[in-house]
Amino acid sequence: MYKPTAVVTGGAGFLGSHLCDRLLAEGYKVIAVDNLITGNTNNISHLIGNEDFSFVKYDITNYIFLPGRIDFILHFASPASPIDYLKLPIQTLKVGSLGTHKVLGLAKEKKARVLIASTSEVYGDPVVHPQTEDYWGNVNPIGPRGVYDEAKRFAEAITMAYHRYHGLDTRIVRIFNTYGPRMRLDDGRALPAFVGQSLRGEDITVFGDGSQTRSFCYVSDLVDGIYKLLMSNETDPVNIGNPSEITIKQFAEEVIRLTGTKSKIVYQDLPEDDPKVRQPNIDKAKRILGWEPKVGRTEGLKITIDYFKKVITT
Ligand code: UDP
Repeated sequence: MYKPTAVVTGGAGFLGSHLCDRLLAEGYKVIAVDNLITGNTNNISHLIGNEDFSFVKYDITNYIFLPGRIDFILHFASPASPIDYLKLPIQTLKVGSLGTHKVLGLAKEKKARVLIASTSEVYGDPVVHPQTEDYWGNVNPIGPRGVYDEAKRFAEAITMAYHRYHGLDTRIVRIFNTYGPRMRLDDGRALPAFVGQSLRGEDITVFGDGSQTRSFCYVSDLVDGIYKLLMSNETDPVNIGNPSEITIKQFAEEVIRLTGTKSKIVYQDLPEDDPKVRQPNIDKAKRILGWEPKVGRTEGLKITIDYFKKVITT
């Protein structure tokens, strides 16, 4: 029986590797492509030996040649934490712009459906709250986050251009803060930072006064929303995230409670252009995809903390 083939760029990353798992479970052949600058083969080592899975180490900002039939492409390659894109600003811009262009070219050549990973960062420091898909955002193009935000805004623009001009079958997901196993402990994000600090008994570094908000989605919920979007007919962007909003100070307190640490919160400077609020409006995903998140924060955090405990002790 023919198995459809899916390519996942960034397939050795946090989200990419979970998508590989889901696609294999759905009966696809999967080709993961990653240049491993922020991805890690540990995330896909359990798939080595699976005859439906293959891995190609490659920088997709260069021309991509893959032989044979390809039915789906999921473009998830990019540094994706503020610390990563501060360290890798040019790579971040290139993978969102040149990389997306190469991915769209491959999809056109193969007549494949392509899903592009966009981000809540396209809304910048939002003045519409919660964020709906029809909000155009408030982004500083020349600030430190501009390399990510503008690359993803360009990625959306070129994807819509390929859709309209070439009739390419495209999907765009705007991903809000997501957490779960396989996040990097050192990616600088709030959750790995707080959990790592708690488990090591170090001070918990809350930036600013901690009143800024985020809304955290557990990875299995996110992957489910993305898969449903891939299978849908919706070609305009769709928010996928968990609308349960919390201040960063409360979030740090939750991590302290769940890890049982004696660590204390210390306050550090707020990074430049750090959004003050963020919460997805997911009415569209509910209506079109019949999707909403199921995993509560306490449940998701417990699984993630257990994962980080193993990472720290091995
Ligand atoms: N943050 C923090 N302490 C840390 C890391 C992050 O207080 O050690 C804050 C950060 O300034 C932001 C929020 O936590 O307000 C979420 O940051 P993250 O890097 O996870 O993602 P962002 O939503 O900013 O992309």
